[in-house]
Amino acid sequence: MPKLVMKFGGTSVSDVERIKNAASKILIEVEKGFDVIVIVSAMAGETNRLVSLVNSVSTLYDAREYDAIVSSGENASAGLMALTLQNMGVSARSWQGWQVPLITNSAHGSARIMEITTQKLNEKFLEGMRVAVIAGFQGLTNDGRLSTLGRGGSDTTAVAFAAAFEADQCDIYTDVDGIFTADPRITNKAKKLSKISYEEMLELASLGAKVLQTRSVELAMRYNVPLKVLNSFSDNDGTLVCQEENIMENKVVSGVAHSRDEAKMTLISVADRPGIAASIFGTLADKGVNVDMIVQNISDDGRTDMTFSCPVDQVELATVTLNEAKIKKTFNYRELIADQDVSKISVVGIGMRSHAGVAAKMFQALSNENINIKVITTSEIKISVLIDRKYMELAVQSLHDAFELGVEA
Ligand code: ADP
Ligand code: ASP
Ligand code: MG
Repeated sequence: MPKLVMKFGGTSVSDVERIKNAASKILIEVEKGFDVIVIVSAMAGETNRLVSLVNSVSTLYDAREYDAIVSSGENASAGLMALTLQNMGVSARSWQGWQVPLITNSAHGSARIMEITTQKLNEKFLEGMRVAVIAGFQGLTNDGRLSTLGRGGSDTTAVAFAAAFEADQCDIYTDVDGIFTADPRITNKAKKLSKISYEEMLELASLGAKVLQTRSVELAMRYNVPLKVLNSFSDNDGTLVCQEENIMENKVVSGVAHSRDEAKMTLISVADRPGIAASIFGTLADKGVNVDMIVQNISDDGRTDMTFSCPVDQVELATVTLNEAKIKKTFNYRELIADQDVSKISVVGIGMRSHAGVAAKMFQALSNENINIKVITTSEIKISVLIDRKYMELAVQSLHDAFELGVEA
């Protein structure tokens, strides 16, 4: 039988009525003749609840216990989905990550998938099971501990199953009609795309468009999995993420992404000598700080200011790490300034490779709104800026207008 992977996010399984609604979408595919692998997230809000329980016990926690607690949200939704399908007369059962097993490395909290065993599930499909419901987001390490794949990780579970079982397609069901030119919750002018390239989606996801977890797009690109994003609550035809050559029309800019909770950290007055950046960023990397943008300003006195951005929830870790390094004399600096009220806004488009002037247009649009740019980085197909968080929505909206993303191509 051909196989299909269908993933339902938190809002799509947030109560038993919605689980029934998702199950009816699964039933349609079963009736078409597919054997279906369903990946479910925890019910909406449940993972956040579990994370805050962990934090209420300790903030510098054992990541293995964090995973044991936080992975549990998916177990209930998997069981409920299997029961609902059984009530509809579909032969279905649930599987937790360790039962498959889905093996990950031991980077607890953001583990990477190493292997998915297909044998047990395939045997069940041969015996007549039509739907395997898999608890997303979770796996098992080689030393027998539960692991999780990072927030939004059920998307990655879904793509990994689609690759392992050579499914015809991986459908991601969520609470919007597909992938839009910007987050539709930030601008109502955002337009749904019918197709987007893996490469552009990879940039958008890594720059904050949480509609797909970055790692899921990476995997889909590597294994050439046709990936679709659809709405659980409508019959809209969604957005296909596919190879660039399958997309006819290409705008210079395809989308605007934002990442709300960023921080800007500046080390004032560090020595201007070879090896200083390696030392600072090596130390931060060793402690797991996710450094993103970096700017260095040389001053006249032979010293330099080093600025970098990181997620706001890593400010404490970065501060402790830098203070310790100063005490140990790994490197020195006069002062550390943390600005915790910044957001990152990015424009993304493959067309930028062959078009000049995108940066100028972006900066002009922000200047027209009197928005100050604090840090800039660019790559071949994206430009990102750091700005004050209070201007985040305005910046997304004005860039969306400036690049005419709401206008039909
Ligand atoms: P799920 O729980 O189904 O995994 P998520 O909340 O993780 O859903 O992702 C869907 C959300 O992603 C949407 O509700 C939307 O607000 C947000 N989003 C951000 N950027 C985009 C975009 N460019 N296109 C569509 N949705 C986006
Ligand atoms: N439940 C997990 C989260 O909220 C995984 C997911 O929904 O993809 O991050
Ligand atoms: Mg998600």
